[in-house]
Amino acid sequence: MHARAVDPRVCPTCGGALAFEILDDERFFVVWSCVECGVIRATEPSA
Ligand SMILES: [Zn+2]
Repeated sequence: MHARAVDPRVCPTCGGALAFEILDDERFFVVWSCVECGVIRATEPSA
Protein backbone atom coordinates (compact mmCIF):
# COMPACT_ATOMS: atom_id res chain seq x y z
CA MET A 1 0.00 0.00 0.00
CA HIS A 2 1.27 3.37 -0.94
CA ALA A 3 0.58 6.42 1.13
CA ARG A 4 -0.29 9.28 -1.16
CA ALA A 5 1.12 12.47 0.17
CA VAL A 6 -0.83 15.43 -1.09
CA ASP A 7 1.47 18.31 -1.77
CA PRO A 8 -0.55 21.53 -1.86
CA ARG A 9 2.14 23.11 -3.99
CA VAL A 10 1.66 20.66 -6.86
CA CYS A 11 -1.18 20.86 -9.34
CA PRO A 12 -3.60 17.95 -8.88
CA THR A 13 -4.43 18.07 -12.58
CA CYS A 14 -1.10 18.25 -14.40
CA GLY A 15 1.47 17.99 -11.62
CA GLY A 16 2.87 21.43 -12.39
CA ALA A 17 4.01 23.96 -9.87
CA LEU A 18 1.44 26.06 -8.08
CA ALA A 19 1.84 29.68 -7.18
CA PHE A 20 -0.23 31.02 -4.33
CA GLU A 21 -1.66 34.42 -3.71
CA ILE A 22 -2.91 35.55 -0.33
CA LEU A 23 -6.21 37.33 -0.75
CA ASP A 24 -7.02 37.82 2.90
CA ASP A 25 -4.23 37.34 5.37
CA GLU A 26 -6.54 37.84 8.31
CA ARG A 27 -8.65 34.85 7.36
CA PHE A 28 -5.78 32.99 5.70
CA PHE A 29 -7.74 32.87 2.47
CA VAL A 30 -5.34 31.72 -0.21
CA VAL A 31 -5.79 31.08 -3.91
CA TRP A 32 -3.50 28.66 -5.70
CA SER A 33 -3.00 28.91 -9.43
CA CYS A 34 -1.14 26.46 -11.62
CA VAL A 35 1.56 27.93 -13.82
CA GLU A 36 1.16 25.06 -16.28
CA CYS A 37 -2.55 24.57 -16.93
CA GLY A 38 -4.01 27.54 -15.10
CA VAL A 39 -6.22 25.62 -12.68
CA ILE A 40 -7.19 27.68 -9.68
CA ARG A 41 -7.89 26.33 -6.25
CA ALA A 42 -9.07 28.33 -3.28
CA THR A 43 -8.44 27.24 0.25
CA GLU A 44 -10.13 28.44 3.37
CA PRO A 45 -9.63 27.50 6.99
CA SER A 46 -12.19 24.94 8.09
CA ALA A 47 -12.76 26.85 11.27
ZN1 LIG B 1 -1.84 22.28 -13.64
